[in-house]
Amino acid sequence: MDKTENITWHGNKVDKNARAENLKQHELVLWFTGLSGSGKSTIATEVEAELTRLGFVAYFLDGDNLRHGINSNLGFSNADRDENIRRIYEIAALFCDSQIISIVSAISPFEKARREAREKIGTENFCEIYIKADIETCKSRDPKGLYKKAVIGEIAEFTGINSPYEEPKNPDIIIDTEKVSVDEAVKIIVQYVFEKQIDCFLSKILETSIYAAYDAGKIIMDIYAKDFVVEYKDDKSPLTEADKKSNDLICERLNKYAPYIDILAEESVDNKKRLENKFCFIVDPLDGTKEFVKKNGEFTVNIGLSYNHKSVMGVVYVPCRNKLYYAAKNHGAYAIDLSKDIFRLFDENTKIKVSERTDELVVMKSRSHSDDRLDVLLEKNKHKIKSQVDAGSSLKGCLIAEGIADIYYRFGYTMEWDTCAMQCIVEEAGGIFVQGDWSDMTYNRENSLNEKGFVILNREENRLD
Ligand code: ADP
Repeated sequence: MDKTENITWHGNKVDKNARAENLKQHELVLWFTGLSGSGKSTIATEVEAELTRLGFVAYFLDGDNLRHGINSNLGFSNADRDENIRRIYEIAALFCDSQIISIVSAISPFEKARREAREKIGTENFCEIYIKADIETCKSRDPKGLYKKAVIGEIAEFTGINSPYEEPKNPDIIIDTEKVSVDEAVKIIVQYVFEKQIDCFLSKILETSIYAAYDAGKIIMDIYAKDFVVEYKDDKSPLTEADKKSNDLICERLNKYAPYIDILAEESVDNKKRLENKFCFIVDPLDGTKEFVKKNGEFTVNIGLSYNHKSVMGVVYVPCRNKLYYAAKNHGAYAIDLSKDIFRLFDENTKIKVSERTDELVVMKSRSHSDDRLDVLLEKNKHKIKSQVDAGSSLKGCLIAEGIADIYYRFGYTMEWDTCAMQCIVEEAGGIFVQGDWSDMTYNRENSLNEKGFVILNREENRLD
């Protein structure tokens, strides 16, 4: 008789989307498989700790620990091993429904049982992580003294000795613990979670970036109020104590939150290791130092994030105006006047959009860079243009994102940190941001120059010829 015959499924009043909304994350099972002593529990506990520190809700389901409780009636025969795994993936499935990230550590030696786990969870949310170490290495590590016992016959059916381990054929991640340290393994797995849950990761990293930009702004304003020394860099651009202090504060904060995301920052030595990383922060600690030196107030603090060479997050803070612009991919763009309003992340009331104008356009012009080519272009198109407005730094893009202005053509060189943060804000506000030849802007490149200039438009039809 089917034991569930007289049992009716009772539906919940809330669905998993509501729980995901509350937790700001989605279901995911990180399933660690490997020989005893390969390092599953060591790495899994570190991953749990790191995800928790980063603001995720994650829970470690250790196979051995579960054998003390829910699985205490099971041994190590093949049938009991299958039942052990079945119960673990059923528990993981409940965690999935609650939207908690579960980190399972279980030898799970049989391909079939792992496949069933994947099917139960759904392949989209199941990440099989093969923690690899050969049997000799595991024997020599022998953290629980089990191999010693198994070899002398004190433990029957011990995986790798007298019970088989079927290597995963196609795991999502392989960690070869003979080559990869625990820290490196954590970095690989956490970056996988970032990619898998990029939307929720972006909202977490956005908060850290906003607070860093805001606090850097306070330091900048303290120096702005005083007399300060101006040095000149090799390229003759000015440099002040404010640039350096803001740079230090931002890099320290970002690095503390996500130490494995590299940073390209205007006033830091460029570590090219960043080129191997899919994620890279792109920071201009004081965009518009010329405006800062002239004390006209139009300078910004820019923190962008590049993922696979695209801008996916941007914070532009204008300390003099107490104005904060920010955006994250698929989350929209927002502007808030911090002297009037309380900051609430993704507050619908602060959402911004580009204007819909297709005539009487407001054109942004750089305050400190004039360009003959731009003058010619604007003259040719003057019938479409109502006015020209000057502004410094990344403020130009933000004013377009906000619908105050409509287009900005920049022919001259800029650097990645001048555009990365502003780009995400413009795009998330519905605008267009491309290189001068209309190709995509890219970030985290070997050469940080934006050599082709760029174009920002509220609407494509406003492209000038
Ligand atoms: P398992 O959970 O797979 O049975 P454990 O995590 O309990 O394994 O034990 C693994 C042992 O191997 C620990 O003593 C750990 O310190 C050691 N070890 C050495 N190098 C590594 C590595 N790169 N990754 C994980 N563990 C490692």
